Amino acid sequence: MNSESAISATTRLSKGALFLGIDVGGTNVKLGLVNSTGTVHAKDTLPTPELGTPERVFDAAIAFADRELSVLGSDRFTLAGIGLAVPGVLDTQESVLREVVNLPGWRGKRLRQMLGDARDLPNAVVNDANSAAYAEHASRSLGNKSLALVTLGTGVGCGLVINGSPYGGDHGCAGELGHIAIRFGSNALPCTCGKRGHLEAYAGSKGVLAQLQSLAEAAKNSDITTLLSTGDITPRDIAERAQADCDLCAAVVDQTAEYLGQAIGQLAQVIDPDVVLLGGAMTFGGNQSKVGQRFLATVQNTINDTTLEQVGTNLTVEFASLGNDAGVIGAAIVAQQVITT
Ligand SMILES: [Zn+2]
Repeated sequence: MNSESAISATTRLSKGALFLGIDVGGTNVKLGLVNSTGTVHAKDTLPTPELGTPERVFDAAIAFADRELSVLGSDRFTLAGIGLAVPGVLDTQESVLREVVNLPGWRGKRLRQMLGDARDLPNAVVNDANSAAYAEHASRSLGNKSLALVTLGTGVGCGLVINGSPYGGDHGCAGELGHIAIRFGSNALPCTCGKRGHLEAYAGSKGVLAQLQSLAEAAKNSDITTLLSTGDITPRDIAERAQADCDLCAAVVDQTAEYLGQAIGQLAQVIDPDVVLLGGAMTFGGNQSKVGQRFLATVQNTINDTTLEQVGTNLTVEFASLGNDAGVIGAAIVAQQVITT
């Protein structure tokens, strides 16, 4: 950044600077106007398929920002930068998506350049998992420390912040916790990626249901095998049944936590982070339920059992706190960093 634009950046930040965060998923585009401390001043959600291309998404996002800024008061606030969070394998050097599903027309596009063409402002592009991790990191004021945000759902995702910065790796695949091997050999379960033994095959939502199937068959529990065969049971139901003293479901929650703790232990032993957070749809009720609390404790105990003393005992393992806004907030904060560093 040259000195002239640095001066104008300082001016923007001193006058109610807001940053537009754009979090693109296959279903929805989440938008937010976020200030320098991560507070969301306005937000909206638009359907991704109706917008389609990056150009149309960026135009709609900027129209949202202009509209909301006029409501908030353009004498008090200015748009200082734009941050974009995208799923898939992001080449962070070129700001190009190398692999992505459910976003036709996005792969191979020079996204930073296109954002700049849409509105000439400082901008940044980041992987969505890293964006959410970065927002959680900022909300905890972790400075130069490291954090991993593990997202549990259909798959198992993970965003990394290392030494205070989002880390995507040299090929956009860093922190792919779902594809860390926790079992080996020909008996290891097949993963969606084509390899065997990966965490996602055991602790993704299909893996959790497969665990229940296996335990229910061994226990000859026909109620549960019938529910499984009709597809009328979800991981959320498993949490509720575990809460209601279903031993089989409680065993599945414990086993899932152990699988997860084994993989997080490997990750933690490599990067020695200060904090690991668990988020997503499949946290078995989270902090609000006894099952969720037991799930978290089992993850932490498994990490402690499988890592060096200094790694496990110094690692804080908690549930994530920002929820659905994390991607938008993280993207906005990354855009802010472009100006202030
Ligand atoms: Zn895999």
